[in-house]
Amino acid sequence: MSPDVLGRVRHLRHAFGHLDGRDVLEAVVRTFPGKVAVTSSFGAEAAVLLDLVAQVDPTLPVIVLDTGALFDETLIYCRALTLRLGLSDVRMVHPEPADAAAAEELWLTDADRCCHLRKVLPLRRAVEGFEVLVDGRKRFHGGGREGISTIEVDLDGRIKVSPLARWSQPEIDDAFRLRDLPRHPLVADGYRSIGCWPCSRPVGADEPVRAGRWAGAAKTECGIHRVSKAL
Ligand code: SF4
Repeated sequence: MSPDVLGRVRHLRHAFGHLDGRDVLEAVVRTFPGKVAVTSSFGAEAAVLLDLVAQVDPTLPVIVLDTGALFDETLIYCRALTLRLGLSDVRMVHPEPADAAAAEELWLTDADRCCHLRKVLPLRRAVEGFEVLVDGRKRFHGGGREGISTIEVDLDGRIKVSPLARWSQPEIDDAFRLRDLPRHPLVADGYRSIGCWPCSRPVGADEPVRAGRWAGAAKTECGIHRVSKAL
């Protein structure tokens, strides 16, 4: 990571690191016009971030990784929520056909490779030209997410902004209620974190939010949120 990039991100943290939610999103959109994209899974809590995006700038590009293994419910929810919020630039991003073929049922034998082919490589192509990637990660989801900051930098030198990093579960629930946001249909079945269908299961009320992701395996992340520790 070059000292220039690190210095720039430290400056951003100094300027905006105390902001949350809509405020930090507005600040980066104003600072990097045309260079900000949002990533969303359209999962269990995605509506909260996307609602903020709609309030700040509904034309912001929203990148969705359509891995080929998403729940049908996610695709339906994606279309409905996009319409409801008035998002005008939701981009469904797919693996290259050869990568999709190579990843056929790879989740059974090599989940890291499967995520690389279905998520990491497509995202890398989709974010070319953007300087800032906004995501919906939150500290209360635990694991490696407990220590995230609202402003970070990924291993490619791209700025990552997580407007909800410091939000709590009650604050997320309040946002759904106060903004009358629709829930992903699988939430009613006990899913609290929703990714690909082979790697997501419902969780009990006493389990961590992400316990249903790659359940029974050591894996906890797909690899698209690899941030530098050099800050
Ligand atoms: S979450 Fe599972 S199915 Fe989806 S890309 Fe990763 S390993 Fe493959």
